[in-house]
Amino acid sequence: MLAAGQLALALVMLTTMALVAYRFELNRAQRTAEQIRVEHVMVSELVGMRARLQHDLITGTDSKARHESGLRIIGMDKGEAGATPVWPGHQSFAEIVDNLAGQGWDNSDTADVTGSISGTAAGGGGSQPAAATPAMGVLSLGGATYVAVAARGTTPAVALKPIDSRLLGWLSRTAGVAPIKMSNASQVPPAAAHVDLSQQAAVTRPQGPHLVLQWHPQRPGDLMLIRDGLILMGITILIAMIMIAYLHGAMKKLRASEAQAQRLAGFDKLTDLPNRSQFGQLLALETARSRRAQSSFALLYVDIDRFKEINDACGQEAGDKLIQGTVSRIASLLQPGDRLARIDGDEFAILQTEIASARDCEILATKIHACLRQPIDLGNLEIRVRVSIGIAMFPADAATDEELTQAASSALALAKKEGRDRFVFFEKMLGDDMRARRTREDELRKAIESGNLLVHYQPIMTADGLRLSCVEALVRWPHPLGGLVPPDEFIALAEDRGLILPLGEFVLRQACRDGRRWPGVRVAVNVSPIQFRQKDFAKIVERVLSEENFDPTRLELELTEGVVIADADEAEAIMFDLRGQGIRLALDDFGMGYSSLVYLRRFAFDKIKIDKSFLESMEATGESAIILHSLIHLGRALGLTVTAEGIETPEQHRFLQAAGAHELQGFLFSRPVPREQIDRMLAAQRTYDGPDSLANSRSVA
Ligand code: C2E
Ligand code: CA
Ligand code: CA
Repeated sequence: MLAAGQLALALVMLTTMALVAYRFELNRAQRTAEQIRVEHVMVSELVGMRARLQHDLITGTDSKARHESGLRIIGMDKGEAGATPVWPGHQSFAEIVDNLAGQGWDNSDTADVTGSISGTAAGGGGSQPAAATPAMGVLSLGGATYVAVAARGTTPAVALKPIDSRLLGWLSRTAGVAPIKMSNASQVPPAAAHVDLSQQAAVTRPQGPHLVLQWHPQRPGDLMLIRDGLILMGITILIAMIMIAYLHGAMKKLRASEAQAQRLAGFDKLTDLPNRSQFGQLLALETARSRRAQSSFALLYVDIDRFKEINDACGQEAGDKLIQGTVSRIASLLQPGDRLARIDGDEFAILQTEIASARDCEILATKIHACLRQPIDLGNLEIRVRVSIGIAMFPADAATDEELTQAASSALALAKKEGRDRFVFFEKMLGDDMRARRTREDELRKAIESGNLLVHYQPIMTADGLRLSCVEALVRWPHPLGGLVPPDEFIALAEDRGLILPLGEFVLRQACRDGRRWPGVRVAVNVSPIQFRQKDFAKIVERVLSEENFDPTRLELELTEGVVIADADEAEAIMFDLRGQGIRLALDDFGMGYSSLVYLRRFAFDKIKIDKSFLESMEATGESAIILHSLIHLGRALGLTVTAEGIETPEQHRFLQAAGAHELQGFLFSRPVPREQIDRMLAAQRTYDGPDSLANSRSVA
């Protein structure tokens, strides 16, 4: 774009320079003929003068005929011999001269002219025959100068014209030169080059030039510049203007998209607040500033309680309004130096500057809770927003900005853990928690890298509880101090710290490897949403399957709603790919989410696993039993395999079998166990049930 503008400018400059150079070049060739010294000429000589003029000037001259007729007009004023002379009273040339002399005009020069004219025009008066050519003379009378022409023939017909501006104008027009001025020969130095007509004059004449006709030459370069140059310049400028206009538009667009990109990079679109990365920079600056000024400030993390539920129940638009409403309420409570940022979907950060003590933070947090108690209008409903707030102070709680964010997030985590809708200050104890968490993270990373994780398998039985149709792979972490750590205690950490991808692949690979020991039994593997969303998830699964030589139709991936919530279109595409490989997909923890039915309708699951929480509360409330019943029916109606989890008692087993669940999983049948134990269970099953059992179990799904 920039290049186009410079090009346009360069084009105009180049054209200008070329035109100027060309003009000088043309003008240089045409320095001559700036003046004509007129002495005493015949009409015929004037013709020659015109021809000479024409030759010397590149002026696009007119025809010779017009020129000659022009001369005739000088000479005779519209007439040949015998035509009406212009001088009033039809006087002869001599009479005119006498007349003028009689009026006291200076006729010192006229004698010769008269002589010359009388010699030719007066004809009969002399011994010489009448001249064949009309004569012309220049006549000065009383300061005015005239051109006089005597026509040929016996009757002298004389025309006398004052050499005034009209005549000079006519002459310049006829000759096609710039306006001619007349001066006395004595006042004008001879030009470097000039037309000296005296050389061409064939008749006798008085000595010395009478006058000089002068003009500023219309140099061809100038003419060209005026005529062609202007057009050319016009076109060039037009092109340049078009280019500049185009450029201007392009630059405007560029600037707009740049601004947009900047905004997107640093700011949240919905609220116009700084986003997480931008806030990180603000925080670093504030930490540095506060260190220099030896002042304190606080970092408050504010999280909207149960935002996801509101968003799911009321729709994204309502969710957006809720966020905006919350932001404007909080913003109204801040002091001029304070900063507010949106660091996550429903999480905000406040930099509370210039604080004297924790009391200032307490006041702000209390005000935030109070002002959010007023319901926010979401169009067709009103919602009272509740928030959890975690507060950490610099430098009291942390030495760096990084430590400060960790302190604030652990305070927030505690606020949520303690029942939400409250604020919690960071305390040193939390710091110890943080250190412990970091150690754990290091240990987990090492365990994953060294493959020091175990995969246990929990049998999933046919509805009668007799045959094993599937096993679910469940990871365990053998900790040097704490025994086998259950996944609930480290999956979230692995997800947080980017360890879930290697962990997930490890479990998948191990499950395929072990699964080869149990032909006819399906192997279910849990997939974290983060894992599912990684680029090429389907490709990775395909690669592991082929490397471990495991039949894809025996693999079942257990996905949760979280997988499909983030980007439904993308999820659909990946699921399509997986199913294309023959892999079965199960919706885990079914019934726990908010919109399970929506997902069931849209996504092609093969199986639902009804969450164990329904069984946990079945005894307590009859409602759960009804829900369980409906869920099983719903699954069956949609043609899905229905699995119930968490079966611990024979009553639960009976109920679920009667309700129509296809598969059952729970401690009643077996806890998750090492692979060798599955080997033994399958062996026992074969001896007990006979060789048909596996075929029967397959028919269930
Ligand atoms: P989940 O997918 O719902 O797995 C079933 C969990 O329920 C297992 O817990 C299992 O031990 C437990 N369970 C099975 N039967 C009963 C029962 O009768 N009563 C009770 N109270 N619990 C029962 P576990 O092994 O602790 O796994 C917990 C969660 O960790 C799993 O829940 C799963 O979401 C996750 N997880 C386990 N392994 C992996 C893995 O390899 N990758 C991923 N991404 N997540 C995993
Ligand atoms: Ca599962
Ligand atoms: Ca589950």
